[in-house]
Amino acid sequence: MTLVEEGAHAQVRDGYAIPIREATPQEYPRVAEVLVESFTAAFDVSDMYIADLRDVAGHAKAFRIWVALDDQEIVGAVLTPKDPLHIEESLEYVERWERDFRMLAVSPAARGKGVGRSLIDHAVRELGALGIRRVAINTGLRMKAARKLYESYGFVRRPERETMVVDGGYRVLSYTFDIPENLQAEVPRFDAIEAQRTVSPQPEGQGSIPGFLKALGLRLKQTTILTDSASLEEAQHDRSSYEEEESALAVIRPETIEEVSTAVATANEYRIPVFVRGAGTGLAGGAIPTRSGLVIATSSLNTLYPLNVTDRSVRVQAGVITAEISKLAASEGLFYAPDPASADISSIGGNIATNAGGFHCVKYGVTRDSVLSLTAVLADGSIITTGSGTVKDVAGLDLTSLLTGSEGVLAVVVEAVLRLRPLPEQSHALICLFPDLIEAGRAAQRISSARVQPSVFELMAVPPGIGRNARFADAVRGNSWMLIIESDEDTPVTTSRIEEAIQPYRHATIHPDEEELRWVFSLRKRGKPYPEDVWMAGGDTAVPPSGLVDMLVSLEEIAHRHGLGYSLVAHVGDGNLHTAFFTGRHTTDTAYPRALEQARRELIERSLELGGTITGEHGVGVDLKDYLGSQIGGRQLELQRAIKRAMDPNGILNPGKWL
Ligand SMILES: Cc1cc2nc3c(=O)[nH]c(=O)nc-3n(C[C@H](O)[C@H](O)[C@H](O)COP(=O)(O)OP(=O)(O)OC[C@H]3O[C@@H](n4cnc5c(N)ncnc54)[C@H](O)[C@@H]3O)c2cc1C
Repeated sequence: MTLVEEGAHAQVRDGYAIPIREATPQEYPRVAEVLVESFTAAFDVSDMYIADLRDVAGHAKAFRIWVALDDQEIVGAVLTPKDPLHIEESLEYVERWERDFRMLAVSPAARGKGVGRSLIDHAVRELGALGIRRVAINTGLRMKAARKLYESYGFVRRPERETMVVDGGYRVLSYTFDIPENLQAEVPRFDAIEAQRTVSPQPEGQGSIPGFLKALGLRLKQTTILTDSASLEEAQHDRSSYEEEESALAVIRPETIEEVSTAVATANEYRIPVFVRGAGTGLAGGAIPTRSGLVIATSSLNTLYPLNVTDRSVRVQAGVITAEISKLAASEGLFYAPDPASADISSIGGNIATNAGGFHCVKYGVTRDSVLSLTAVLADGSIITTGSGTVKDVAGLDLTSLLTGSEGVLAVVVEAVLRLRPLPEQSHALICLFPDLIEAGRAAQRISSARVQPSVFELMAVPPGIGRNARFADAVRGNSWMLIIESDEDTPVTTSRIEEAIQPYRHATIHPDEEELRWVFSLRKRGKPYPEDVWMAGGDTAVPPSGLVDMLVSLEEIAHRHGLGYSLVAHVGDGNLHTAFFTGRHTTDTAYPRALEQARRELIERSLELGGTITGEHGVGVDLKDYLGSQIGGRQLELQRAIKRAMDPNGILNPGKWL
């Protein structure tokens, strides 16, 4: 048992004594260490917050610094006011007879020994001895261990008091604990002052949730501000599996650019985060509110303007569903080339924000190659239009490209002028089937070297059931992988070059007609290439075509070494692999298997070794934010952060993501 120092108050839990006493000034550096260790273990603490934690001597002017000891070593700390009438800030908003203790901290190595509970116990007694009747504390969602401790001690959550966000959008949680009467001292002077003291309502300025919502309501008279649980719940998810504890405060669906501008300017004024939501089909968690903020859903910004056939362009608002653009273009013999598999369900604003790829990108480029101009609302609410209506435009820095792929962290895209191309008059497809993945990869790599330009070039596992179609029955027998290659150029030349390229590999070939091709693509779009009830780690790496076979070999090797299953569909012409490692999940399993994350990490690292990228088209979002630095390096990350600061100095746009 630990020795109790003379003069220290010992809390005894389960036979284990935790001495608590006041720290001496010489011990402040160690106290600071414990505070920083404890808080940084819980969440990403800002530099300002760390500086405040370290200023123990500063806090000691108004607070008593209590430390908990384990074997003479300081392992925990808590601060209680010296004089409840003179705390660091004004008492104007503090309820009568209520005060708090501050900076409850337990060094991570000493957790699980009852140190935190003992410190709370001690602080409650100290506050009671000052005549205080109720302890009121603030904490955050990220302080999970502390919240559990408060709740188990008997603190009660007070949602009606949770009206503020701080530190870039974290909601301040409120808990209170009524000090038992036998621990409340009678302090007549304190009682007399508290009985007279008036308490003001919380200020409704920066960070105030009611203040922000009130201002928004006054300024956006035509827009409904949705705060019902169904709207908030819907805004909380995209097609990734990310879950966040912080949640949206409100959702709006503006119908005009001016409304977007007003909403963003108001959020900026109140320092409330803004999350832009297109159709919520993102796979990287990009649209998920990671803080308590406003969700601007673009679904009602859905005007599709008439085509300009001469300029081969079309102006669209951000919420238009991408497939609608293709339909309109086709009516005039034109087409919008970037066609993600989600074109029927995703918005053009989301496609622009993620710089989406698609089936035809192998020939016509990604979304960025089809965006001529953008209208965007900046973080201060101002509206800019980048680029112009021309394909050629070298006037100044290319902000159109900067915003394309910026995932809602730099601006809200509200309109775009898109480039259209003549609808190809002919096309011809080949489906080549192979017995194993590496052989299919070798064939694909050889096609990439064959000086042909497919307009679609995909790799996928042979879908189950496809052999039931008589035309496919023979070809799929004994084969597991297929390449789908479409060309809209001089088809006989292309076809013969492709057939020549794959000649060395065992394969079967089908020349599907249009309907058969559409059917195979529908299987490609629909098929979830991994079983139900599995733990899964997805990936969206891309490598240059010359690295394709090496990447596929690594995929198989990594899966085998970790004992995992894998699945793959690939925009193989541009080396973009949608991979998933998976392993069986039993109903009793609760912990995500580490092998999955390890396998995913190894595959991402392999992609970088081969000169590729961590994400070809789905974006960084929440999913890959820890990997971005490994691709672009610290200097470039800092440069990107500097751009973010220049465009969004208060950090309100999509915080908690990659910048
Ligand atoms: C079945 C399926 C197939 C898919 N296939 C493909 C594919 O082939 N290629 C591909 O690239 N992706 C694909 N995806 C992923 C997804 O559809 C794309 O990332 C798409 O571009 C997201 O569009 P969204 O409107 O759903 O955006 P959301 O998911 O709502 O948002 C995505 C990101 O963009 C930001 N954002 C959205 N709108 C705006 C705006 N107006 N201004 C600023 N930021 C904005 C959000 O904040 C978020 O960071 C697929 C997804 C599914 C479910």
